Amino acid sequence: MREGRIIKAYSGYYYVLAFDDEELYETSLRGRFKKKGIDFYVGDIVKFTVVNQQVGVIEELCPRSISLKRPAVANVEQMVLVFAGQDPELNCKLVDRFLILAEAYDLDVLICLNKIDLIGLEEAKKLMNKYEKISYSIVYTDIKLKKGIKDLKKGLANRISVFAGPSGVGKSSLLNLLNPEADLTTGEVSQKIKRGKHTTRHVELIPLDNGGLVADTPGFTALNIDFIAPRQLGYLFKEMREYIPDCKFNNCLHLHEPKCRVKEAVDNENIYESRYNNYLSFLSEIEGGN
Ligand code: GDP
Ligand code: ZN
Repeated sequence: MREGRIIKAYSGYYYVLAFDDEELYETSLRGRFKKKGIDFYVGDIVKFTVVNQQVGVIEELCPRSISLKRPAVANVEQMVLVFAGQDPELNCKLVDRFLILAEAYDLDVLICLNKIDLIGLEEAKKLMNKYEKISYSIVYTDIKLKKGIKDLKKGLANRISVFAGPSGVGKSSLLNLLNPEADLTTGEVSQKIKRGKHTTRHVELIPLDNGGLVADTPGFTALNIDFIAPRQLGYLFKEMREYIPDCKFNNCLHLHEPKCRVKEAVDNENIYESRYNNYLSFLSEIEGGN
């Protein structure tokens, strides 16, 4: 049997990119899958047989790791977090919110700071200094002069990525650059059309020439964090993780507890105060919701 990945689903057909010849096959499901009510998602790895030429039948669904609901993509490995250097202005609290969501879903993160034409690379690096120090991967892009697109592509190689970030930062513009065939509407004027369009069409994975696959629709528009347990929250702040096991109390929430190693690290400037303050704010948001 052949093996491949579903990259597109459309009116009962699943388009499978075969691992061996890298061709696209139009496949349908064996009836037993429908009877059992098994759902297949874009991103799923399947075994299939070829009926003739580029037409096949899916015989088996391979175990999936995580699957996101919005967009509905299975086996996602990375979140590309897009923000703008300016217009809209960088909001670090929102960056931190996206980061903890990515960590909660156990996704790798690539931060993409876009619109650097508006502020310059030097200023852009200053803005991201904090995130570089806590060892997040960052690329700097500008769709006007098409700068940094190679770096971005490199960061997308050989894995499935989903773009996320606030609106207006250039997600659609970047996805358009990656997928010249697509016709995602960009710009504020067309926001309405875009929304309508995205609710009726299904997500597809854009295959890149370096083995990367990218969801053509940004995800994570619902940013609620109240599914996160208060005691889990600290671990979602990458730089806090190493300190938490040494806190005196094993249920320490790093507020006012004695011998809290996280608080000490903040006092010693080993953890950024701004990140810690966002931790506190998210913690009260989570606890307020319970
Ligand atoms: P989205 O809401 O994140 O998908 O953002 P869009 O891709 O729709 O972009 C929002 C606006 O920002 C559009 O008017 C784009 O032309 C503009 N834009 C996107 N990327 C850049 C960039 O790198 N530099 C500048 N100056 N404008 C950009
Ligand atoms: Zn503590």
